[in-house]
Amino acid sequence: MAEEITRLAVHYLDDLDARRIFPLTQAGQTDALFRRSTPEEGAGIDSLANLQDVIDHCRAQNGRFFGYVLGSGDPVGAAADLLASVLNQNVTAWRSSPAAVTLERTVVSWLAEAVGCRSFHGSLTGGGSSANLMALAIARESKLRANDRGLIEAGKCTVYASGEVHMSIPKAVALLGIGTSNLQLISTNERFQMPPSELDSAIQHDRTAGKIPIAVVASAGTVNTGAIDPLPEIAAIARRHHVWLHVDGAYGALAALAGPEKFAGLALADSISLDPHKWLYQPLDCGCLLFRDRVLAHATFSRTDDYARSLSTDAIESFSFFEESIELSRRFRALRLWLSVRYHGLRAFRDAIKKDLALAQRLAQQIADERDLQLLAPVELSAVCFRFRGQESIPEDELNRRNAAILQRVIQRGRVYLSNATLHGKFCLRACIVNHRSTEPDVDCIVPEVLAAAKEVPSST
Ligand SMILES: *Cc1c(COP(=O)(O)O)cnc(C)c1O
Repeated sequence: MAEEITRLAVHYLDDLDARRIFPLTQAGQTDALFRRSTPEEGAGIDSLANLQDVIDHCRAQNGRFFGYVLGSGDPVGAAADLLASVLNQNVTAWRSSPAAVTLERTVVSWLAEAVGCRSFHGSLTGGGSSANLMALAIARESKLRANDRGLIEAGKCTVYASGEVHMSIPKAVALLGIGTSNLQLISTNERFQMPPSELDSAIQHDRTAGKIPIAVVASAGTVNTGAIDPLPEIAAIARRHHVWLHVDGAYGALAALAGPEKFAGLALADSISLDPHKWLYQPLDCGCLLFRDRVLAHATFSRTDDYARSLSTDAIESFSFFEESIELSRRFRALRLWLSVRYHGLRAFRDAIKKDLALAQRLAQQIADERDLQLLAPVELSAVCFRFRGQESIPEDELNRRNAAILQRVIQRGRVYLSNATLHGKFCLRACIVNHRSTEPDVDCIVPEVLAAAKEVPSST
């Protein structure tokens, strides 16, 4: 089984560049292929028969994949995953898995150091969304300790973020019972950043109205445009108002490896979310939450039943991730990152991120040079938002419809994969480069593909 699966994986990688970026398939076809009743009898080695169909109906992550914010899956990490699953460690406490817990603590400290927050603690998570949820849970716990716990039921706690904040933040606020009506979304400036003065007035205003501001979420790389909120100013405001500062760095913060200047102020945060499955190119899933104060994480998450209680008093042997995290049973996520960084060295990651940043600037320049296209946001990191504009003057709603049709056409053409964003009501095509496989020739396909797709889309759509 292992040899055959390895053969399929190696063949897939060899062939990756030539593959369609999105399979020529439809819901009916994938359903017909894979939706079968549960087999009562095992097929043994014959069960491998359908695997080539699975591979052929996957989206291919070659160098021309520029959708969403999605890392490109380092094969070294993938190889490590096979071993991690075979070892089947439950990375819950040193007591249950000494090596795996130590590796995870090691890679978490590497990640903290990578973003200039050496003294922070934390754990790997399923992604940025769970890291954001955990961060706001710790924020709520620690701020309500200082106030009256009953007030959270009264819907008096407030959380602040920019209007460009990732959707996982309203989700976390809802799940934590804070209520989305208590999430104040501050309008962004022309660079899609949160203006500190407006944050300050919003907090002031809520205080005066008897609310309890508990947390500010700043973005270090918004998902749409990669905007980085002004962290030092926001940190100063958070400190002045005794409000928790969480930085959502799931998209961007690991780019500090390539240029820490953009991320000044990150170390002033109380907690930071990172996503090694994005800009450290790790196979899904691998997120990370970093926090400054372990005591507060314990106060939030530590519920120990006797069966899981550590019997050791040694600081290392009694360590438990489950006391600092939502998760109890946890897979061995650290092995892939540990092996991948050891294999390539950190410098290779710095260089790959620098290359992605440079490719985004290259694309932005190509768009600026093309009369039929229009850049719709500054390129702070590696997300490039633009649209087809054409030569005649086209009404805004028609432009929105036409660009949505162009995007669908680009994906059908199968050569490059873009996604979309809406900025100030404008539908954008969005290329985001967090891909260790992308090269200049890959990026140079984007403009011609969009122009070719635009020709194929009738103007009345
Ligand atoms: C991707 C992303 C998230 C969510 O992370 P997942 O790993 O998809 O759960 C949160 N915030 C930002 C800015 C992101 O780019």
